[in-house]
Parts: sequence; C-alpha cells; structure tokens
Amino acid sequence: MVIGVLALQGAVSEHLKMVTACGVTARPVKTEADLKNLDGLIIPGGESTTIRKLLVREQMFEPLKTLVQQGFPVFGTCAGLVLLAQPDLLNGLNGTVVRNGFGRQRESFETELTVKGWSKPYHGVFIRAPYLSAVQKPAEALVTLDNGRIVAAQQDHVLVTAFHPELTGDERFHRYFIEKMVVGEGK
Ligand code: GLN
Repeated sequence: MVIGVLALQGAVSEHLKMVTACGVTARPVKTEADLKNLDGLIIPGGESTTIRKLLVREQMFEPLKTLVQQGFPVFGTCAGLVLLAQPDLLNGLNGTVVRNGFGRQRESFETELTVKGWSKPYHGVFIRAPYLSAVQKPAEALVTLDNGRIVAAQQDHVLVTAFHPELTGDERFHRYFIEKMVVGEGK
C-alpha cells in the first residue's frame, strides 16, 4: 500500500512521517504522474488558494478532481478541507465551508475534541482553520464543537479535518483514513 501526500505547499513532511508511523509507505506527490499507483492521497494544510493555483499550474487539478469524483480515497486537513469540500474546487464532500472561520482573535488554538464513536478525546491543533457550518448527506460530521461548528467530517472515501492531526503525534486520524477509506473503501 502507498499513500501519497500532495507536496506542492504546506505541512508535507509531518504527514509523510505520520503515514510511515502507521506502517504504510508514504510518497510525496508533485506531478500528475505521481498521482498514479497510489492507494490514497493526503492534501495537507497550507494556503488553499496557493495549493489550488499550483495544482492548476502543474496540470493536476482536473486529474485530481476526476480521481475524487471516481471514489479515490482522499484525506484533507485544514486547507485540504477547503479544497475537498468547496463545490467549485474538488467537490468531494457536501458541506458549507467557512474559510478562516475562527477569526483573528483565535487564529491558532488547541482544544480537546470529542470524535463520534471514539472513546478517548483527540487533541486538535487549529491554525487559521476553516470549519463547516453544515454538511449534507451522504456527508457525516465526526467532530462538532459546542457552538455547532463541524471540524471533522467524512463522506464515503473522503475524510476532512479543520485541524492538524499531523502535528500531534496521535496517529488515530491517519489510521482511521487508512483503515476505513483506503482498506475499507469508504464506510
Ligand atoms: N486558512 C487557510 C486556507 O484557507 C488554511 C490554513 C491551514 O491550512 N493551516 O487556505
């Protein structure tokens, strides 16, 4: 099994390390050719406008969108959530994205999260994070804050988090992606 990490901009090396820590081969993805022979892909945090522009420049945007539409397993964190959930971008999860949704006062913060179906909380690291104000079926919220903001969700083969699980040393979200979306081919 090989999991790619989109390596155009953003928190790439941390995701590569997490995938490796899960016992799975990780490979940086920089070109359209790199998209081949993968079992799943992670779109990291960074700046979604920049990543989108680089995807277009490298002629990877349409091939990636096609993969997502065909049911290829993809995990997007932070900027990756924006790219996956916006209907005008990769359109892989039915939800309403609020970019930089926590505003200036709370540009970066950390908090314990309750994940649907998990017994232990997950430490969420948020950096200029987006959130989802709503998700529509078949998308399903995995983490909803007390104020109703959805910060993790899944839809079939697509997993998104508004926070940065690659910065915690807690592999559970990466393992969840590998076990449910890549091996289990969605839920
Ligand atoms: N605010 C960024 C965006 O909308 C995301 C920030 C991040 O990935 N840490 O692209």
